[in-house]
Amino acid sequence: MAFCPNCGASVENGAIFCTSCGSSIQTNDGAPETPATPVNEEVVYNTPQTAPKARELNVAQLVWAIINIVLCCMPLGVAGLVFTIMAKDSPDDATEAKRLKNAKIFNIIATVGGALIVVFYIIYFVFLFSFSEYMYY
Ligand SMILES: [Zn+2]
Repeated sequence: MAFCPNCGASVENGAIFCTSCGSSIQTNDGAPETPATPVNEEVVYNTPQTAPKARELNVAQLVWAIINIVLCCMPLGVAGLVFTIMAKDSPDDATEAKRLKNAKIFNIIATVGGALIVVFYIIYFVFLFSFSEYMYY
């Protein structure tokens, strides 16, 4: 004896349509059609844990890199920026830490280098004006 998956009425084996409600029947060895297998809850709950964890973008490092790009050292600032963005997509904590460290190193070099350039310019102009004849009248 088979059962209608729609209304549950018993129907003859091999019947194509339910005599009670008229819906089509997939014969299933007499067992009532089981509802679709529920999604394995274990799998559902484990997926976020096995997937790479979402990482926050290091905004401070990013802003610093952009300041370096704008104010002084384009290539170094870009390197810092790239490493900062790459750190966000790291597969693990160690990689993230390494990339953030690289970003920091490039940012420090850019800032220190930029500061040195500014200092040299100041010294240069101070000397320039010191020896200019306008200073002697
Ligand atoms: Zn039926």
